[in-house]
Amino acid sequence: MEPRFACTACGKCCHGLLPLTLTDAVAHAVRFPLALVWTVVRSNAKSYDLATRLGTSVRLPNRKTVAVLIQPTAYLPNHFPCPALQADNLCGIHADKPSRCRTMPFYPYREEKDQADLLVPRKGWECDVSAEAPVVYRNHAILDRKDFDRERADLLEQAPVMRTYADYVLKYMPWIVNDLAKMAAAPAGGKLVTSLSSFLTATRRTDARELAAAQAPLMQAMAERTRTDPALAEFHKNYAGWAKEMERLAQRG
Ligand code: SF4
Ligand code: SF4
Repeated sequence: MEPRFACTACGKCCHGLLPLTLTDAVAHAVRFPLALVWTVVRSNAKSYDLATRLGTSVRLPNRKTVAVLIQPTAYLPNHFPCPALQADNLCGIHADKPSRCRTMPFYPYREEKDQADLLVPRKGWECDVSAEAPVVYRNHAILDRKDFDRERADLLEQAPVMRTYADYVLKYMPWIVNDLAKMAAAPAGGKLVTSLSSFLTATRRTDARELAAAQAPLMQAMAERTRTDPALAEFHKNYAGWAKEMERLAQRG
């Protein structure tokens, strides 16, 4: 049976971390608290070759090489709704929403031929996969591919910037390679988070002050929202620290 899929706008997938293209992260910096999320892709993974093109290759202390994706990300705890999600579960910025939301449920960090299982809704999601929904994927190819192609093209275009950032981090924060090695060895993998301020410093963006000024109040608000929940201690620590970094960066002459 051919995979069918339609979004019923239940809003369930609009929670937690939202990976963005760099263009979308910059465009939505007044809305999303941003961080850089690192994910290790092992050399035996199906998407390894693609991951080396979209991300960077890192040699670990055990001499194995892994691919590492570095995604600008709306950094939110799993159960936190996207700031653009309305009370009626509709997207408040539908006409202007990020590429990642337009391409759902397809995922450009995977090869196109390896997308079928993404069409199976996760537990609790109310995507329509019934016989009434349109066929969206045939013979391992996406039928309406405009959004997928655009997101993939944006990711390929930004890849050199992400490599520059990775080189900076591995030079000035060399202990991160040990964290990547632990993630590569762990059965469930893992994610590593670095700050937007380190990214802005590494890439010498001319709009760094403006981005920092947009981010500072968001980080402060998120630090406050996560202040009392022990389960969110890591998020709180990051938000609070990054709020200070963003304030300093915004005031820099
Ligand atoms: S921007 Fe809109 S579609 Fe994307 S996660 Fe937020 S509410 Fe959902
Ligand atoms: S979980 Fe499925 S139905 Fe609900 S908003 Fe996301 S894509 Fe649409």
